[in-house]
Amino acid sequence: MIIITRPDISDDELDHIRERIESAGLHTHLSRGEHRTIIGCIGDETRLQEIPLRSIPGVESVLPVLKPYKRASREFSVDRTVVRVGERASIGGQAITVIAGPCSVENRDMLQETAVAVRDAGATILRGGAFKPRSSPYSFQGLGAEALKLLVEVRTATGLPVVTEVLDTRDVDLVAEHADMLQVGARNMQNFALLAELGRAKRPILLKRGMSATIVELLMAAEYIMANGNSDIVLCERGIRTFERATRNTLDVSAIPVLQRETHLPVIVDPSHAGGDASLVAPLAFAGIAAGADGLIIEVHPDPESALSDGDQSLAPPAFVSLMDRLSAFAAAAGRTMTTASAGAPA
Ligand code: PEP
Ligand code: MN
Repeated sequence: MIIITRPDISDDELDHIRERIESAGLHTHLSRGEHRTIIGCIGDETRLQEIPLRSIPGVESVLPVLKPYKRASREFSVDRTVVRVGERASIGGQAITVIAGPCSVENRDMLQETAVAVRDAGATILRGGAFKPRSSPYSFQGLGAEALKLLVEVRTATGLPVVTEVLDTRDVDLVAEHADMLQVGARNMQNFALLAELGRAKRPILLKRGMSATIVELLMAAEYIMANGNSDIVLCERGIRTFERATRNTLDVSAIPVLQRETHLPVIVDPSHAGGDASLVAPLAFAGIAAGADGLIIEVHPDPESALSDGDQSLAPPAFVSLMDRLSAFAAAAGRTMTTASAGAPA
């Protein structure tokens, strides 16, 4: 349940309400807005039956939250969450953020070249896989720790914060030491040990929807991370597995407005993995923005033909530039702006 407090509540009254809830064995979660505060209560609510909550000074109303996700639910937060990535980028809010870069970090030169190209085209966060979750053990698995160092080098050279996937609980500290944001891939969305570990990480998380996961399962995965202490989460719709084989996955466009209704967390779209084909990236990106996404994550490679992973769906820099040019019009039509390195990003 949530407790909505009176606008003029004092700190002492707020503390008192929390103490009453916590002494009954529940956890509380505080969300403070400019005009009101919400106290979320998590745990066995039957224990609160004996407490006349509405009579406690400062309480305005008490509302049930029937969803299995609590901290992730829209009701638990006064405001929509804006997730900061590095010192200058952010995801959520009015502006649309574009993350771009190669599927995998292959070497220094290609990473540097891609980073400069996507930055100059308007992307504000660089992606690049170091540890790759490949369907075949014989495929390129990523450069691992070496790629993390390259990401740091290129961040320093370009000023772009970096996001990269962490596959294994044993690598969380290492990846968090190097990256500004940690990605949970579709194949790991329900790796609960990893989610719990990321709850303890001091980095924002990009949580991708599992290819066979429902929207509720995605939100429960976010809840795992939040319940373990980390609320800086961005959700990513990256296509789900359906009977349709014409595309790599099926972009679930309706998941975007449903998630925006259900949660305060930002939602972005990955048109690259959804369609699996470079020619589908632009239309799916536009569809994502039209549906209310807060951003996009797009694979870009200086020479897609020679890419070690996901070349078919990677855009060459000129195609990315053209996409970014056309995106502003879609953003404007959706009442949004595009983030730039300074606008929309925290100082
Ligand atoms: C990726 O972003 O390169 C990736 C592997 O994505 P997903 O987990 O969505 O398949
Ligand atoms: Mn990829």
